[in-house]
Amino acid sequence: MPNQFPEVPRNPFWSGDQEGSRRALAAIERWRTSFAGWLGGSERDDGISEALATPLLELMRALPGETYLQYPYRLERFPELSTADGGDPAEALRRVLLWRAGVVDFLSDVWDTLGATDIGVEECQRISSLLTPVGMERSSNLCPLCLAEQQERHFDACAVQASWRSSPTPSSTA
Ligand SMILES: [Zn+2]
Repeated sequence: MPNQFPEVPRNPFWSGDQEGSRRALAAIERWRTSFAGWLGGSERDDGISEALATPLLELMRALPGETYLQYPYRLERFPELSTADGGDPAEALRRVLLWRAGVVDFLSDVWDTLGATDIGVEECQRISSLLTPVGMERSSNLCPLCLAEQQERHFDACAVQASWRSSPTPSSTA
Protein backbone atom coordinates (compact mmCIF):
# COMPACT_ATOMS: atom_id res chain seq x y z
CA MET A 1 0.00 0.00 0.00
CA PRO A 2 1.23 3.51 -0.76
CA ASN A 3 1.78 6.13 1.88
CA GLN A 4 -0.95 8.48 2.94
CA PHE A 5 -0.88 12.19 2.02
CA PRO A 6 1.58 13.91 4.41
CA GLU A 7 0.68 15.99 7.41
CA VAL A 8 0.04 19.67 6.64
CA PRO A 9 -0.14 22.71 8.95
CA ARG A 10 -3.56 23.23 10.52
CA ASN A 11 -5.66 25.79 8.69
CA PRO A 12 -3.09 25.93 5.90
CA PHE A 13 -5.07 28.28 3.72
CA TRP A 14 -4.61 31.29 5.93
CA SER A 15 -1.83 30.43 8.31
CA GLY A 16 0.99 31.70 6.09
CA ASP A 17 3.25 29.33 8.03
CA GLN A 18 6.35 29.54 5.83
CA GLU A 19 8.50 26.96 7.57
CA GLY A 20 5.62 24.51 8.09
CA SER A 21 4.63 24.93 4.45
CA ARG A 22 8.19 24.31 3.28
CA ARG A 23 8.36 21.07 5.26
CA ALA A 24 4.95 19.94 4.04
CA LEU A 25 5.85 20.65 0.40
CA ALA A 26 9.02 18.58 0.64
CA ALA A 27 7.04 15.69 2.13
CA ILE A 28 4.30 16.04 -0.49
CA GLU A 29 6.86 15.87 -3.32
CA ARG A 30 8.20 12.59 -1.89
CA TRP A 31 4.65 11.34 -1.45
CA ARG A 32 3.70 12.20 -5.04
CA THR A 33 6.65 10.23 -6.42
CA SER A 34 5.93 7.13 -4.34
CA PHE A 35 2.16 7.31 -4.83
CA ALA A 36 2.44 7.64 -8.61
CA GLY A 37 4.97 4.79 -8.60
CA TRP A 38 2.48 2.56 -6.82
CA LEU A 39 -0.45 3.64 -8.97
CA GLY A 40 1.40 3.15 -12.25
CA GLY A 41 3.37 0.06 -11.26
CA SER A 42 2.89 -3.64 -10.75
CA GLU A 43 2.21 -3.27 -7.02
CA ARG A 44 -1.17 -1.74 -7.70
CA ASP A 45 -3.87 -4.37 -7.08
CA ASP A 46 -7.01 -5.17 -9.01
CA GLY A 47 -9.06 -2.99 -6.67
CA ILE A 48 -7.99 0.07 -8.65
CA SER A 49 -9.21 0.15 -12.24
CA GLU A 50 -7.37 1.47 -15.27
CA ALA A 51 -10.29 3.89 -15.73
CA LEU A 52 -9.42 5.57 -12.43
CA ALA A 53 -5.65 5.10 -12.40
CA THR A 54 -5.12 6.77 -15.78
CA PRO A 55 -6.61 10.20 -14.98
CA LEU A 56 -4.99 10.13 -11.53
CA LEU A 57 -1.58 9.47 -13.03
CA GLU A 58 -2.12 12.35 -15.45
CA LEU A 59 -3.07 14.63 -12.57
CA MET A 60 0.12 13.61 -10.75
CA ARG A 61 2.20 14.42 -13.85
CA ALA A 62 3.18 10.78 -14.21
CA LEU A 63 1.40 10.37 -17.58
CA PRO A 64 1.17 12.92 -20.42
CA GLY A 65 -2.49 12.43 -21.44
CA GLU A 66 -5.57 14.48 -20.63
CA THR A 67 -8.35 11.94 -20.14
CA TYR A 68 -9.22 13.79 -16.90
CA LEU A 69 -10.59 16.64 -19.02
CA GLN A 70 -13.63 14.53 -19.89
CA TYR A 71 -14.89 14.87 -16.32
CA PRO A 72 -16.77 17.99 -15.19
CA TYR A 73 -14.63 18.68 -12.13
CA ARG A 74 -11.96 21.15 -11.07
CA LEU A 75 -9.12 18.91 -12.08
CA GLU A 76 -5.71 20.19 -13.03
CA ARG A 77 -2.21 18.81 -13.17
CA PHE A 78 -0.14 18.97 -10.02
CA PRO A 79 1.21 22.55 -9.80
CA GLU A 80 4.65 23.37 -11.19
CA LEU A 81 5.95 24.65 -7.89
CA SER A 82 9.46 25.76 -8.73
CA THR A 83 8.29 28.28 -11.33
CA ALA A 84 4.80 29.22 -10.22
CA ASP A 85 5.01 29.80 -6.50
CA GLY A 86 7.18 32.90 -6.66
CA GLY A 87 9.28 31.57 -3.83
CA ASP A 88 6.47 31.72 -1.28
CA PRO A 89 6.06 28.25 0.25
CA ALA A 90 2.71 29.09 1.86
CA GLU A 91 1.32 30.12 -1.54
CA ALA A 92 2.79 26.99 -3.14
CA LEU A 93 1.16 24.82 -0.48
CA ARG A 94 -2.15 26.60 -1.02
CA ARG A 95 -1.95 25.67 -4.71
CA VAL A 96 -1.14 22.06 -3.88
CA LEU A 97 -4.03 21.83 -1.42
CA LEU A 98 -6.40 23.31 -4.00
CA TRP A 99 -5.16 20.62 -6.39
CA ARG A 100 -5.79 17.98 -3.72
CA ALA A 101 -9.28 19.38 -3.07
CA GLY A 102 -10.13 19.10 -6.76
CA VAL A 103 -9.10 15.45 -6.82
CA VAL A 104 -11.01 14.68 -3.61
CA ASP A 105 -14.11 16.42 -5.00
CA PHE A 106 -13.79 14.30 -8.17
CA LEU A 107 -13.49 11.09 -6.13
CA SER A 108 -16.49 11.98 -3.99
CA ASP A 109 -19.01 11.35 -6.76
CA VAL A 110 -17.42 10.65 -10.15
CA TRP A 111 -18.60 7.03 -9.75
CA ASP A 112 -22.14 8.42 -9.77
CA THR A 113 -21.58 10.69 -12.78
CA LEU A 114 -23.29 9.83 -16.03
CA GLY A 115 -20.89 8.18 -18.43
CA ALA A 116 -18.25 7.31 -15.84
CA THR A 117 -19.56 3.91 -14.88
CA ASP A 118 -16.16 2.27 -15.32
CA ILE A 119 -15.06 3.93 -12.08
CA GLY A 120 -16.31 2.29 -8.88
CA VAL A 121 -17.29 3.81 -5.56
CA GLU A 122 -14.99 1.60 -3.49
CA GLU A 123 -11.83 2.46 -5.38
CA CYS A 124 -12.74 6.15 -5.13
CA GLN A 125 -13.16 5.87 -1.36
CA ARG A 126 -9.88 4.05 -1.06
CA ILE A 127 -7.90 6.67 -2.99
CA SER A 128 -9.72 9.45 -1.19
CA SER A 129 -8.71 8.10 2.21
CA LEU A 130 -5.11 8.00 0.99
CA LEU A 131 -5.46 11.69 0.09
CA THR A 132 -6.52 12.57 3.63
CA PRO A 133 -3.49 14.15 5.34
CA VAL A 134 -1.87 12.18 8.14
CA GLY A 135 -3.41 13.05 11.49
CA MET A 136 -6.72 14.24 10.03
CA GLU A 137 -8.29 10.87 9.32
CA ARG A 138 -9.88 10.45 12.74
CA SER A 139 -11.77 13.73 12.83
CA SER A 140 -15.05 13.18 11.04
CA ASN A 141 -15.96 16.84 11.28
CA LEU A 142 -13.28 18.12 8.91
CA CYS A 143 -14.28 19.56 5.56
CA PRO A 144 -12.74 17.14 3.01
CA LEU A 145 -11.89 20.07 0.73
CA CYS A 146 -10.37 22.77 2.95
CA LEU A 147 -9.52 20.51 5.93
CA ALA A 148 -10.97 22.98 8.45
CA GLU A 149 -13.43 22.08 11.20
CA GLN A 150 -16.91 22.41 9.76
CA GLN A 151 -19.30 24.76 11.48
CA GLU A 152 -22.88 25.29 10.45
CA ARG A 153 -23.24 26.64 6.92
CA HIS A 154 -19.66 25.65 6.19
CA PHE A 155 -20.11 26.10 2.45
CA ASP A 156 -20.13 29.89 2.93
CA ALA A 157 -16.93 29.76 4.99
CA CYS A 158 -15.03 27.13 3.04
CA ALA A 159 -11.74 28.54 1.74
CA VAL A 160 -11.72 26.11 -1.18
CA GLN A 161 -15.29 26.83 -2.21
CA ALA A 162 -14.53 30.57 -1.99
CA SER A 163 -11.49 30.13 -4.20
CA TRP A 164 -13.48 28.10 -6.71
CA ARG A 165 -16.24 30.70 -6.77
CA SER A 166 -13.74 33.44 -7.50
CA SER A 167 -12.25 31.54 -10.46
CA PRO A 168 -15.20 30.01 -12.31
CA THR A 169 -13.10 28.52 -15.14
CA PRO A 170 -11.07 25.49 -14.08
CA SER A 171 -7.46 25.67 -15.12
CA SER A 172 -6.88 22.61 -17.25
CA THR A 173 -3.88 23.47 -19.35
CA ALA A 174 -1.17 23.94 -16.72
ZN1 LIG B 1 -14.24 23.54 3.53
